[in-house]
Amino acid sequence: MIGIYGGTFNPIHYGHLRTALEVSEIFALDEMRLLPCAQPAHRAEPEVSAAMRLQMLQLAVKGTAALQIDTRELQRAGPSYMVDTLASIRADIARLPLILFIGSDAFNGLTSWHRWQKLSDYAHIVVMTRPGFTPDPLPDFYTDKRVDDRHSLKSCPSGKIYFQQVTQLDISATAIRQMFAENKSARFLLPESVIEYIQAKRLYT
Ligand code: ATP
Repeated sequence: MIGIYGGTFNPIHYGHLRTALEVSEIFALDEMRLLPCAQPAHRAEPEVSAAMRLQMLQLAVKGTAALQIDTRELQRAGPSYMVDTLASIRADIARLPLILFIGSDAFNGLTSWHRWQKLSDYAHIVVMTRPGFTPDPLPDFYTDKRVDDRHSLKSCPSGKIYFQQVTQLDISATAIRQMFAENKSARFLLPESVIEYIQAKRLYT
């Protein structure tokens, strides 16, 4: 099975890294790909370039073989729609099971995503717990797709939705950017190598 963990990663932090590694082990994934978006469809373009967000990701996963980076959204022009990304990954992997991992905050906005009803044509969706965000009731569209046994995701390429408890780390990129802006220490919330990069490039000041 292949896992996809999309995000702005502005910057990448331990809330992303720990949960990505954890679900990679829980679901015994063959690959877990962190997938930075170029131009988020749902928010203003980040002030930090895609190339810099990618460099921070590369620093963060260095030495962690279980986490890979998929740069396909950075190579595509226009807004990054997850449905297009999943279609493109599906074209590469034939009928291998594919899982899109999202936090409960992202899940609560799912029905505003471009062609959201098509996401499950290409992948399973796993919703990870995130402190401060209780998942909304499941949209009708998904009720018959929900499964309570994660092993059932292995039995078909896509189409199921599952809720997974993960270690609760109340860390957000917004709070980290704020800390840099206020000259406070963000140490222990994200890798030291990423902190050094942010400081060297004077990001978020
Ligand atoms: P921002 O504060 O800029 O909105 P963020 O910290 O939420 O950023 P994103 O890059 O927007 O990070 O998130 C990408 C994905 O990671 C989303 O699916 C989000 O739910 C998930 N995620 C981010 N932080 C956590 C966390 N601490 N625990 C679990 N999931 C998380």
